[in-house]
Amino acid sequence: MKGILIKAISGFYYVKSEDNVYECKARGSFRNKNFSPVVGDNVEFLIHENSYPSIEEIYPRKNCLVRPNVANIDKLFIVSSFSTPSPNTVIIDRLTAICAFYNIEPVIVFNKADLGDFSEFLSLYKKAGFKAYVVSAATGEGIEQLKEEVKGCISAFTGNSGVGKSSILNVLFKDLNLQTGEVSQKLGRGRHTTRHTELFWHKFGGFVADTPGFSSLENIELGFAFKERLAECFLDFSDYTHLCKFTSCSHTKEKGCAVINAVNNGDIQESRHKTYCMLYDELKNLNSWNKK
Ligand code: GDP
Ligand code: ZN
Repeated sequence: MKGILIKAISGFYYVKSEDNVYECKARGSFRNKNFSPVVGDNVEFLIHENSYPSIEEIYPRKNCLVRPNVANIDKLFIVSSFSTPSPNTVIIDRLTAICAFYNIEPVIVFNKADLGDFSEFLSLYKKAGFKAYVVSAATGEGIEQLKEEVKGCISAFTGNSGVGKSSILNVLFKDLNLQTGEVSQKLGRGRHTTRHTELFWHKFGGFVADTPGFSSLENIELGFAFKERLAECFLDFSDYTHLCKFTSCSHTKEKGCAVINAVNNGDIQESRHKTYCMLYDELKNLNSWNKK
C-alpha cells in the first residue's frame, strides 16, 4: 500500500494512506543502508498478520531538509507582519533563496493588514516574480487566497514569533475536519512546544507541516553547494546572469554585469540585489571542505 509518512516517534512511523493511519516499523535494511524514512516521505508499506505493518520502500524525494527533518515540502509560506516585528526583506530574500535551493515554492504572506499598508512590500515581491499576499488573520482578509494555495500540497509556515502564524493556521483550518480537536490545538497553542515534525492533513486536500525549526534554517548550514548556486537561487536574476560580460561574474561589482545593469534600469529590485551581495559576502569564504 502507498501512503505518506506523517509522524515518526521512537522507531514507529505513522503512515497516512487513503483510508487510515498505520503505525508501521521500517524494514531492517533501511538501517543498514544508513537511510531511514523521513516525515513527508511517500512510502510503500505492507500489512502483516502478526506484526506491525512494514515500510518497504521510500519513493524518490523532491527535497529533504535536515533541520527540520522533513521531506517533500512543496510550499513554504514566509509570514511577516505589520508593526512589530515589521517585514524584514533580508530575511524574506534569504528564505526565498533557500526555497529555490530546495525546490520549494515560496509564498510570501504579509499579515495584519488591518494595522497598516503593505503595498510597497507587496509590489516589491510581485515585481520580483513571487506569489505574495496581504492578509489579516483578525479580519479574514486574504485568507481565501491562502486556502487556494494550501490545496493539494505539503506546506509549511515560517516567520518570526508574533507575526501571526498560529492565528493564520487557526483561521485557515478552523472549520475543517482535521482528524480531531487535538490537531487544531496542536497547530495553535501546542506548536511551540513540539520538537518533532509532524504533518497534518486537511480537507482542502493537502498537508501542513508542524515544524518548529524553519526559522533556524541557516544558509551557512547549506554550505558550499548553496554558495555555488547562490545566483541561481535568485530566480529574478535568471534572465540576466547569462548576459554578463564575464562567465565567472559574481554579480556583485563587475563591469559589464547584466544583473547590475538590470538593477540600475529598475528591472531587478535593488533590495533583492543588496541581499544577494550580503549573502555572497557571508558565503564567499566557504570552500569545498564545508561540503556536506
Ligand atoms: P505566531 O507567534 O507567529 O504564531 O503569532 P500568533 O498567531 O501567536 O499571533 C501573535 C499576536 O498577533 C497575537 O496577539 C495575535 O492575536 C495577533 N495577530 C495575529 N494576526 C493578526 C492580525 O491579522 N491582525 C492583528 N491586529 N493582530 C493579529
Ligand atoms: Zn554579473
